[in-house]
Formats: sequence, C-alpha cells, structure tokens
Amino acid sequence: MDFILASKNPHKLQEMSAILGQYGVDLRLQSELALDIDVEENGASFEENAMIKATAVMRASGLPAIADDSGLEVDALGGAPGIYSARYGGEACQNDRQRYELLLENLKGVPTAERTARFVCVIAAVWPDGRKICVRGTCEGRILTQPGRDNGFGYDPVFYVPAEACTFSEMPQARKNEISHRANALRLFQTKLTEG
Ligand code: IMP
Repeated sequence: MDFILASKNPHKLQEMSAILGQYGVDLRLQSELALDIDVEENGASFEENAMIKATAVMRASGLPAIADDSGLEVDALGGAPGIYSARYGGEACQNDRQRYELLLENLKGVPTAERTARFVCVIAAVWPDGRKICVRGTCEGRILTQPGRDNGFGYDPVFYVPAEACTFSEMPQARKNEISHRANALRLFQTKLTEG
C-alpha cells in the first residue's frame, strides 16, 4: 500500500514511515513527485485541516494521500492554541520558544490542577475512489510553570507527562515515539487500514 504524504518535511516522513513501514505501508513525500501544491489550512478543526491537505494532494497526484494535523489543547485556555499551535501569538512570536513563553504567560496564576492539556494528532487518508479514513490520537499531560530542558521542538519543554514523570523534551525520543499523540494516531490509523 503506497501513499503520498501531504508534507514537504523529510523529518515527518521519517517519523511516520518508522511506524507505518512495519505494516508494509510505503510513504512518499509530495515534494518527491514535484507536486507544487500550496494548500490553505483554513479548516475549523484538526480533522478538517488534515482532510483538506490529504484531498489536495490526492487530487493533484491521482494517488492515495495521507496528511496529519497536530497541536496542543490547553483546557484553561478553552482549547487554545489548538489548530493555531504553529502560529500562536502571530507575528509577535517568531520561534517555538517565544510561543511556549507566551503560553506560560497566558497561564500565569493558574493552579497546577487546572493546567491540564493534551497534544492532538489527526491523520487523514483519502483515495481517488472516494474512500476516507480519519483518526485522532491524543497524549494527556499538563503545562509546567517553568520550561524543562530546552530540547525537542514546539511546546515539548513545557508539556509534562505525569505518567512518565518528565516533559516531552526530557523524554528519550524512542519513548516519545511510543506514547505520543502521533504514535497513538498512527496505531489507530493502522488498525482502520487493516480493517479495510
Ligand atoms: P503540524 O501539524 O506539524 O503543523 O504541527 C502543528 C504545531 O503543533 C507544531 O508547530 C508544534 O507547535 C505543535 N506540535 C505538534 N506536535 C508536537 C509535539 O510532539 N511536540 C511539540 N509541539 C508539537
């Protein structure tokens, strides 16, 4: 089973192939096919954005396509930054560090018990014959008041996973790959794929 991955990011290809490859699923980056598609991610949910990206690549290539959309939902902020995680703070935030610092600022004074949050990853696949799969994986945690070790990407340094007693940034990559929102979504995706 081959899919075109709606992404230009080789890191994402590697991460998804590492899990799906075990099940005989072969992924190729959209950039390998020289498909020049610039999709506007204007959906109102992770599901809509993942479907928008996968559908655009499927239409342009005529091949089955897969896409993901992910982000961080913080309960005390009504689910923000959510689908806007990559651009939280707009122009005022130029990098991951500024974005997680803004998050800490917006959570100032919020007690530990109310700092619950989750990473979400939605994976969508669409086939030229109209078949679709869409799954959501999550990973529960809470937002610290101070960042942990500044390693990893995005909001990793401020996302603490109680079950593992460390932040995503302090967790060995292999362990993160087992318990992350993306790993959970990929497992669900694989189950749906084999169910047919
Ligand atoms: P995208 O779906 O790859 O565009 O990711 C959306 C944004 O969510 C990223 O830019 C990060 O800010 C955040 N994000 C998603 N997954 C993770 C993760 O595993 N760690 C930290 N941040 C993440």
